[in-house]
Amino acid sequence: MERILIDETPKLIGQVVKLQGWVNIRRDHGKLIFIDLRDRSGKIQMVIIPDKEDAHRAAKEIRSEYIIEVEGLVKARPGGAKNEKIPTGGVEIEVERLDVISKPEVELPVDISVEELNLNLDTLLDNRTLVLRNEKVKAIFKIYAEMIGAYARIVKQEGFLEIKTPKILDSATEGGANFFKIKYFDKDAYLAQSPQFYKQAGVGIFERVFEVGSVFRAEPHYTTRHVNEYIGLDAEMGFIGGFEDVMAELEKVMAYVMVEVSRNCQNELEAYGAQIMPVEKIPRMKLTEALDILDKEYGKKMDEVDIDAEGERLICEWVKKNHNSDFVFLTHYPTNIRPFYSMPSPDPQYTETFDLLFMGVEIASGGQRIHNYGQLVASMKKHKLDPEEFRHYLDIFKYGIPPHGGWGLGSERIVQKILGLGSIKEAILFPRDVKRLTP
Ligand code: ATP
Ligand code: MG
Repeated sequence: MERILIDETPKLIGQVVKLQGWVNIRRDHGKLIFIDLRDRSGKIQMVIIPDKEDAHRAAKEIRSEYIIEVEGLVKARPGGAKNEKIPTGGVEIEVERLDVISKPEVELPVDISVEELNLNLDTLLDNRTLVLRNEKVKAIFKIYAEMIGAYARIVKQEGFLEIKTPKILDSATEGGANFFKIKYFDKDAYLAQSPQFYKQAGVGIFERVFEVGSVFRAEPHYTTRHVNEYIGLDAEMGFIGGFEDVMAELEKVMAYVMVEVSRNCQNELEAYGAQIMPVEKIPRMKLTEALDILDKEYGKKMDEVDIDAEGERLICEWVKKNHNSDFVFLTHYPTNIRPFYSMPSPDPQYTETFDLLFMGVEIASGGQRIHNYGQLVASMKKHKLDPEEFRHYLDIFKYGIPPHGGWGLGSERIVQKILGLGSIKEAILFPRDVKRLTP
């Protein structure tokens, strides 16, 4: 008999089927044994009656996380759908044969059969390979997969070509100290802290490019929104009229992603009590306006023209209250806190750049880039960078490139915020932080 998936059972009432999967939990009611079985498609209740002697004997040994194979009769559950929350709630399997395929060799360190794990972050991460089997934890990664899938679909639809760029670099991308140095044969190399230069090269070749790829940041952060390796959703586009075009594109992308996630992940969102608001026009304000609001409405003053994590949270709160939006673009960041390749505004103290904030945190930075060779070299010098070290990057501009811009969007923060997760690390299968290189 061929194995079928659990989600196929409702249409097979009255038939004997073969299932394989993990035992979520075993419950005994007198002589009856109940087992909740799960596979990649769902979960189902199985009942083992004493009459089926071999199966009953085998079932008595079963514990959570045993991997088993069963044959049994699909039956409508007495009294109709007992558990309406799952699609297979209206059926159960009356087991005729039960075999163990594989089983844990040790006592399980955490009980993952429960709906709510209620474990602290370290326990969630230390026992990762087991914890990830929990239904509610798995839901995070279904949403994550839907989110990056939707991202790729919409940008492709918008004419962006998917590219993959090298993550081992000869020099640190944008200067600064947040890069990891590695041994590369007989010399030093660095892990890419963004695909910035290569995606700009991509504009010179393909006009519009995007990348879904690893980004490495050697920042010694202990926050709820930083890790040292994350997946960036980058895009870069040529022939723009200004950085508003980039924001308009990102707005379209986020609107699509949010619609797709809410449409295709209803159950997963529900498990977290998460609701996605449709994205319409994302409010835009200058950073300086945001700082005024922080000052006037929250009594929060910044020492310089910049915003910190608390400021981002408060501005999102204000925007939610006043514009009913979970998103906001802050624009025109000062030249001194933006990378050298940022296009200066007509008032050259500021840049044609933006951050996109979502539910209290920055999820993307972007803007228009300098495309003129001479201007770029001058900007490098102003930022105390040596153009000689960037000569391969500068080739892009020597050969000519259209006006362009793009964004770097953090994938994990999006999911963290949608679901209201305490830490970004919960939205990563195997996160890397200052203290954590395993599992
Ligand atoms: P922050 O100010 O929050 O540290 P950043 O401005 O340094 O972020 P960017 O260089 O603008 O980050 O990167 C683009 C996007 O990548 C960010 O908006 C964020 O979503 C994501 N990102 C950046 N650094 C990290 C990190 N250490 N961990 C997870 N995501 C990150
Ligand atoms: Mg940023």
